[in-house]
Amino acid sequence: MTGPSTQLLIDGALAAGGAGVFLTINPATEEPLGVAADADAADLDRAIAAARSAFDSSGWCRDTALRVHCLGQLRDALNDEIETLREITIAEAGAPRSLTFRGQLQTPVDDLEFPAATAERYPWRVDLGVAAPMGISTARTMVREPFGVVGAITPWNFPHQVTFAKLGPALAAGNTVVLKPAPDTPWCAAEVGRIIAEKTDFPPGVVNIVTASDHRIGARLAEDPRVDVVSFTGSTATGRSVMTAAAQTIKKVFLELGGKSAFVVLDDADLTAACTAAASTVAMHAGQGCALTTRLLVPRECYGEALDAVSAAMSRVPVGDPSDPKTLCGPLISGKQRDRVQSYLDLAIAEGGMFACGGGRPAGLERGFYLEPTVIAGLTNDARVAREEIFGPVLVVLAHDGDADALRIANDSPYGLSATVFGTEDRAALVASRLRAGTVNVNGGTWYCADVPFGGYKQSGIGREMGLAGFEEYLETKVIATAVRGS
Ligand code: NAD
Repeated sequence: MTGPSTQLLIDGALAAGGAGVFLTINPATEEPLGVAADADAADLDRAIAAARSAFDSSGWCRDTALRVHCLGQLRDALNDEIETLREITIAEAGAPRSLTFRGQLQTPVDDLEFPAATAERYPWRVDLGVAAPMGISTARTMVREPFGVVGAITPWNFPHQVTFAKLGPALAAGNTVVLKPAPDTPWCAAEVGRIIAEKTDFPPGVVNIVTASDHRIGARLAEDPRVDVVSFTGSTATGRSVMTAAAQTIKKVFLELGGKSAFVVLDDADLTAACTAAASTVAMHAGQGCALTTRLLVPRECYGEALDAVSAAMSRVPVGDPSDPKTLCGPLISGKQRDRVQSYLDLAIAEGGMFACGGGRPAGLERGFYLEPTVIAGLTNDARVAREEIFGPVLVVLAHDGDADALRIANDSPYGLSATVFGTEDRAALVASRLRAGTVNVNGGTWYCADVPFGGYKQSGIGREMGLAGFEEYLETKVIATAVRGS
C-alpha cells in the first residue's frame, strides 16, 4: 500500500493540520496504521471562507460545463488510483475486499456520472407561462439555483459511498463544499482531497476537506452562518445535535440517520431462502450499514424452524481478515464500537433473550475488533435490542401472527429507513406498500442504484440522497415574475 495523504485540502492547496496529526487504527489488527492531518478551528474557518468565496466570487455556480468536466476528471482520476483506494479502505474501514468492488468503493466512484449527467440535462429555467394574478399580467419563470456552501459531515462505515453521494450532487448542482469526514476513516477522505488537488481542474475553494479527531469541528461546521446547507450522515443522536446547531441560522438540514429495519417473511415465502438472505445481509461488513435489516419477522408457527435456518446461515458467513476476498464479515470499526455492541448482547440476555448462535469472539481471531454473527431469540418488539440501532452483526428474530401483525411490528419503530419482504408477489407487494420505510426490497430485489433516491421516514432522516431527488436537495427555487407590457 502506498502512503496515503495526510493533508487537508483548503482553498485548492494541500495543507498540514493546525492541531498536528492523529493516529489511524487498523480495526483488523488493533495496530496503528499511521497518522492523519488534524484540523483545528482555524483550519475549518479558512475552509469555510474559501468555500464561501468560491461560491460568491467565482463563476462555478453558473458554469455547468466546468462542473461536468471536473466531476468527470474526478471519476477518471479515482478510477486510475482505485487499487490504492481499495487497500486504504480495507485497512482503515475494515471493509471486506469483496465489498470494495461494489458499494464500498467502485460503485460510488462510477455513480459520480449520474449527478454530472443530471446537471447537463436539468431544466434550470422553467417557463411557467403568463398569468394575471390580482389582475397583473405577468410572465413567470422558475429558476433552480445552488444553495451556496454545503457543510458535509460523514460517518466511517461506508466512507466513499457517503462522500460521493454528497460531493457528486452538491457540486454538480453548483454548490461549494466543506467535507468533514469521520475521525475513524480520515485517509479515505484525504486521498480524495489529494486527487482533487493534483489531478482535477476544480477551482480553489470549491472542495475543501478537513479531517479532524475532534467531533466539535463538525459541530462548528453545522452552526457557522457562512454555511447554507448541512448535509449530514451519521447516528440519529448526532443528527439531533446537528439540527439544533443549524437551527440558529435556519440553514437547510439534510439528514441520513440510523435504522432498525425489518425483514418480513410471510407464511407463503420460501423460509430457508428468506432466512439465508437475512443472515448474509445483517452480517455484511459486520452489520455496520444503516439500511441493513436487523429485525427478522417470521410466522409464529415456524419460529423454531426459522431460528435453525437463520443460525445455520449465520454460522456459514465467512468472518475474518477483510483483505481476504472470501470475507463477508470483517471487524467492527473500533474497540469503542465493539464494546457498544457487546453491551447490547449483554442487554439481550438481561432482557430475557437467548443467543440462537454467536454472542462472542470468533474462534481464532484473538486480535481485531471482531464479533461472531449473532442471532437473538425469545424477545418481543418491545425489547430495547429490538428497538435500538446496534450497528453490529446482530439479528433479532421476532414472531408475527400474519401479514397485518407483521406490518404492525415492522412499523412499530422510531426508525423507517428500509425494509425487506419475502412472500408471494401480490401479498408481498401489498405489505411493501404499507411499510413506513424509505426503501423496500421484495423477494431479493435491491434498491441501491445511482438513479434511486435513498433516505428514511421518521427518525431515520430528512430528505433523499442519490437519484434526481438527491440532486434537487442541493437546489434553491426562485421565481422571476415580469410584468407583461401592453396587456
Ligand atoms: P456519528 O453520528 O457518531 O458521527 C458521524 C459524523 O458526525 C462524524 O464525522 C462525526 O465526527 C460527526 N459528529 C459527531 N458529533 C458531532 C456534532 N455534535 N456535530 C456535528 N458533527 C458531529 O456516526 P458514526 O458512528 O460515524 O456512523 C454510524 C451511524 O451512521 C449509524 O447510526 C448509522 O446508522 C448512520 N449511518 C446512516 C446512513 C444513512 O444513509 N442513513 C449511512 C451510513 C451511516
